[in-house]
Amino acid sequence: MIKKASTHISQNEGTIFERSRPGRVGYRLPALDVDESPIESLIGRDLLRNDDLAGLPEVSEVDVVRHFTRLSTWNYAVDLGMYPLGSCTMKYNPKINERVSRFDGFASAHPYTPDELSQGNLRLIRELEVTLGEITGLPAVSLQPAAGAQGEMSGLMVIRRCLESRGNPRKIVLVPDSAHGTNPASAAICGYDVKTIKSNENGSVDLDNLREVVNQDVAALMLTNPSTLGMFEEHIVEVCQILHEAGGLVYMDGANMNALVGVTRPGDMGVDVIHLNLHKTFSTPHGGGGPGSGPICVTSELEPYLPFPRIVEETDATGLKTLRLDFNRPMSIGRVRAFHGNYSVLVRALCYILSLGPDGLREATETAVLNANYIAHHLMDDYEIAYHGKPLHEVIFSDKHQQKYGVHTLDIAKRLIDYGFHPMTIYFPLIVHGAIMIEPTESEGREEIDLFIDAMRSIAKEARENPDLVKNAPHNTRISRLDEAAAARKPVLRWIKPNDK
Ligand SMILES: *Cc1c(COP(=O)(O)O)cnc(C)c1O
Repeated sequence: MIKKASTHISQNEGTIFERSRPGRVGYRLPALDVDESPIESLIGRDLLRNDDLAGLPEVSEVDVVRHFTRLSTWNYAVDLGMYPLGSCTMKYNPKINERVSRFDGFASAHPYTPDELSQGNLRLIRELEVTLGEITGLPAVSLQPAAGAQGEMSGLMVIRRCLESRGNPRKIVLVPDSAHGTNPASAAICGYDVKTIKSNENGSVDLDNLREVVNQDVAALMLTNPSTLGMFEEHIVEVCQILHEAGGLVYMDGANMNALVGVTRPGDMGVDVIHLNLHKTFSTPHGGGGPGSGPICVTSELEPYLPFPRIVEETDATGLKTLRLDFNRPMSIGRVRAFHGNYSVLVRALCYILSLGPDGLREATETAVLNANYIAHHLMDDYEIAYHGKPLHEVIFSDKHQQKYGVHTLDIAKRLIDYGFHPMTIYFPLIVHGAIMIEPTESEGREEIDLFIDAMRSIAKEARENPDLVKNAPHNTRISRLDEAAAARKPVLRWIKPNDK
């Protein structure tokens, strides 16, 4: 018997257009109490359709409600169960954040409201900047970038501007081979040549190799810490020293800050620029492409280059403090996003930070790390662990033990769906062959994690005893194994005209 984390409703559902029946309506209007006049006399013949088909489905109210309610149950969501996507930090989003972000003063504020009438909204931005500066140890913060990748680009533009003002923007950005694909892409967009550096057998930066490649042409190193392998970069202080001695800067990809918040600070390690993913670490919803937020935090030296406008605080003769937007920033890289970024995401993030407080943030980090280590410990006998040593907030296995039965990472991920879980991240990072990347986050309790471990161990057993069961999974879903490439390249987005049937 499969123990399931959740069940999905699995009936088939056509499009709303297929449900259409001529003449069926979902409304009833009162009888006319004026004389009827022909439509042509009201809007003119040239504005009328030639056929009488607007193409709208003709359905009843209950048809509409049931159709969309059923569709909504096909989604897997973090409110439904564990979402162990490694590298994504799919944590639960507390509902208080949603409540607060909908407060009228936040939700209805117009971005063109004059500064003196939007002191509260400016205060929220300022407080989040200060808080994130404290959490990262990098005091100058811009909340404009709308995602991690845009934060990377903005951060590298800041680095470029800084090096330019020192006399030479330089040519190369170093990126470890374990990096997220957005890192080399951002460096390339900022006009740098990307040079890949190899990880050593522990998955961290090889210091000797780094010393060899760092020279006067290197603008920066982009480092993810903990790395995409879930390992803390133990030599981070030396890494920063090596770069700084050669006149380069260190960019830290902070997408994995869920392993560090409240415990240690990148600024104290020597990092110059970091981006955060508020939609990962700071518990604002993500998935489906946004909206996100990827603030950048930099050293005081780099502050003049941050995107404008900046918020400045002024004190008048009576001691009254007011906030104002400062557009006069001659050294700035310019705007990277309209207005103030994705404002409602900022509200949620500050609400999350303030409702947890310093102790709560630290506890969340410790729990996230504990949960990943608990999973690592319990799955180690059944799955090959990719890197030995202590993982932090996520753990990476491979399908090495399962390959001899013809079962691969994709099959394991698909079979997990039958057990009611969203699959983990697969085939990333690229340097682990057949990677199975699991990040439980701090949101999961012991029972849910045990259920997940049971499912994974049960799949390992099935792979040994009945590999075809795993290779043909999923079995309990509406549709079974998709040809994913064809589904992405040739999607069938079907609309059937009612009279074509
Ligand atoms: C998620 C992630 C990114 C990109 O962030 P987006 O907000 O999706 O643009 C970059 N680096 C790492 C390590 C990530 O996990």
